[in-house]
Amino acid sequence: MPIDLERDDAGENSPTAEQVLEEVRQFLMQERALFGDNLISEQSTSQKDAAVTSKIVPEEPLLFELPPPATPSLTTEAWGNASTVEELNKQICTCTKCPLGSTRTKFVFGVGNPHATLMLIGEAPGADEDAQGEPFVGRAGQLLNKILEAINFKREDVYICNILKCRPPNNRTPQPTEVEQCIPYLKKQIELIKPKVILCLGLVAAQNLLHTTESLGKLRGKTLTYEGTPLMITYHPAALLRNPNWKRPAWEDVQAVRKLHDELVRVAP
Ligand code: URA
Repeated sequence: MPIDLERDDAGENSPTAEQVLEEVRQFLMQERALFGDNLISEQSTSQKDAAVTSKIVPEEPLLFELPPPATPSLTTEAWGNASTVEELNKQICTCTKCPLGSTRTKFVFGVGNPHATLMLIGEAPGADEDAQGEPFVGRAGQLLNKILEAINFKREDVYICNILKCRPPNNRTPQPTEVEQCIPYLKKQIELIKPKVILCLGLVAAQNLLHTTESLGKLRGKTLTYEGTPLMITYHPAALLRNPNWKRPAWEDVQAVRKLHDELVRVAP
């Protein structure tokens, strides 16, 4: 899987050593996410392909649980009493609990139907989202819209948000302290929206919601649960833009999400 280090521009616009290193770091993180720590240098391409496209629908019963995460401590802050997502947004949108609060342009709360039956959770706002105050509006967001359309959801039917509400500088991975400060807001959003199914977009969302360090390769293709809500995991749309080979397994994932969603919505409307 080559890293695209070629650029149209040259000279002063060429990538800096820091940018190249960041791309290499992102690539290695993707590899680790998919194949775990031990397999980065050991697997052949065909083994990797087999790993990512292996059985999507488990043979065992659909729902099983990871050890439950520690129950979040109840906040005594006012936002904890919000009774709608709109109210919650109003109460937290000036948050400066972590340093990202002073570097953001806009707070990116989340968007969509506050009564959505499907909730999508990504990692953190990027540059476009930071500028517009809405999650998944850049290139990855456009791909996400197409993915949703392909399984007959409109963007406005579902609810879309992120683990972090503010953009990390240079789109770096969220730091544990940032997640610790921000994730209670997301948990409150989930509590208010009460989705029937959660779809995690990428490993950062999955690991932080499930309190696990498992690889994406291990986590996808299964129905897990977050505090009783069925949860599935697929590739982050930005990863699909970088590696189109993952589009096929991602397509299988989202079809499984649609099926699970329809089963649960039919059973418990
Ligand atoms: N990537 C994310 O994880 N979230 C966004 O909102 C945009 C890009």
